[in-house]
Amino acid sequence: MAYLGNSARTKEILAKYNMSAKKKFGQNFLIDDRILGGIIDAAGITEDDCVLEIGPGIGTLTQYLAESAGKVVSVEIDSSLLPVLDETLSGYGNVTVINKDVLKVDIDSIVSGYNSGRPVKVVANLPYYITTPIIMKLFESGAKIESVTVMVQKEVADRMAAAPGSKDYGSLSLAVSYYAKAEKVMDVPPGSFIPQPKVGSAVVRLIRYDRPPVTAADEKYMFEIIRQAFNQRRKTIANCLANNPSLGLTRQQVCDGLYKMGIDDKARGETLSLSQFAELSDILQSRDAMIN
Ligand code: SAM
Repeated sequence: MAYLGNSARTKEILAKYNMSAKKKFGQNFLIDDRILGGIIDAAGITEDDCVLEIGPGIGTLTQYLAESAGKVVSVEIDSSLLPVLDETLSGYGNVTVINKDVLKVDIDSIVSGYNSGRPVKVVANLPYYITTPIIMKLFESGAKIESVTVMVQKEVADRMAAAPGSKDYGSLSLAVSYYAKAEKVMDVPPGSFIPQPKVGSAVVRLIRYDRPPVTAADEKYMFEIIRQAFNQRRKTIANCLANNPSLGLTRQQVCDGLYKMGIDDKARGETLSLSQFAELSDILQSRDAMIN
């Protein structure tokens, strides 16, 4: 079994299988054992844990996970990596590799199937081209997930962990904050990967809430309001929501709703908190915002 986690071994494995990283699958392999150890620590992995990994690649992070967790289930889209994973994970009896597209698998049945209905921890160096769809799928699947500790593009980590009013705050910050408490754990330089990504990276930890911190009568409608409120960032929230074909609200209804909440109709979406969006969504949906 080959221990990975450094540049020489990664190059050796890639050369042995006559492979190079595939851009279309967002392949950037980790080669820094300090960062790999940092991810395991940040995720707080113990032998009681079952870990769901997305994109094991050549198995570098997977080896670290297999050393510390009770069980690891890794979903990899690229079938040409299977013989590599057979070799690099041969010493570990606690790893299962599923050769599928993570966006097409039933996350809930994987989680309940492999961990008897107990919550899993998700740990991954994510393919950056589909970071947001993966995170949203994990949360929206309803699967029992305790935490998500993932390497993402630095800018995306900043957006996930942003607070209202800050420059990075937007629909992703709000969507994540509905499901989890987000925290950026560490910045990771391009030199920690082969090949080096063109952007900076960061590890972010999302600790799943037992239940959402706010209640909206219609969650889907609230997310549509949020999406539209940030569709054109430089516009006021009233301008974004009024006469918007996907919402069907008049300017009067939107302004009355904002007035009812004591929000200036010149305010922008980035000044509203998640609970304000939940309240606004309930008011606008019931269309009882008209002031008599
Ligand atoms: N975990 C490895 C590491 O840290 O060195 C590789 C990480 S690499 C950034 C992303 C991995 O996700 C690649 O192995 C890639 O093939 C895989 N991947 C890309 N799209 C995927 C998808 N839709 N479903 C499952 N795996 C995917």
